Amino acid sequence: MTTYGLLIDYEYCTGCESCVVTCKEEHDYPVGKWGIRVFEDGPWEIEEHRFNFNKIPVPTDLCDLCAKRTSTGREPICVHHCLANVITYGPVEELAKKLDAKSKQVLWVPQFKPYEAKGAFVHDPNKGLRKAAHLEVSENESAERMAAQRGDHRVEEI
Ligand code: SF4
Ligand code: SF4
Repeated sequence: MTTYGLLIDYEYCTGCESCVVTCKEEHDYPVGKWGIRVFEDGPWEIEEHRFNFNKIPVPTDLCDLCAKRTSTGREPICVHHCLANVITYGPVEELAKKLDAKSKQVLWVPQFKPYEAKGAFVHDPNKGLRKAAHLEVSENESAERMAAQRGDHRVEEI
């Protein structure tokens, strides 16, 4: 089975927290629980008048890679709402190549393996959505267990 993850290019993250808010709303997480947080590294002085100050988004153990959305061919909600376009969803093997090509990135693999959506995302001009080109969906025990813990209904298989 292909392992999916998120690649986050924090060099260009603005710290707007749209990913934090939309993830929380999408999953209806209660107060004190998040699927992703934005941490700060800095500010500290590298040299005179030059500072290091990074905003680093990091998914939490509650991140399920938006299983409901990705199982129907949609991208994760944090990817969809990141105005800086710094979050990429996809197979870890592909993301690792992008990670190797540029510094200041974080590659994330969740503890819960989600419903798996296979196929590259393509733009669908008729629906204004990005859909998986060749969608095959499967699910595993971890996704079911997590959905049960949250009290979700099962995602219909397509
Ligand atoms: S992929 Fe979904 S669950 Fe994971 S951090 Fe992004 S919005 Fe939250
Ligand atoms: S939505 Fe994008 S730019 Fe804003 S905090 Fe999240 S990763 Fe950074």
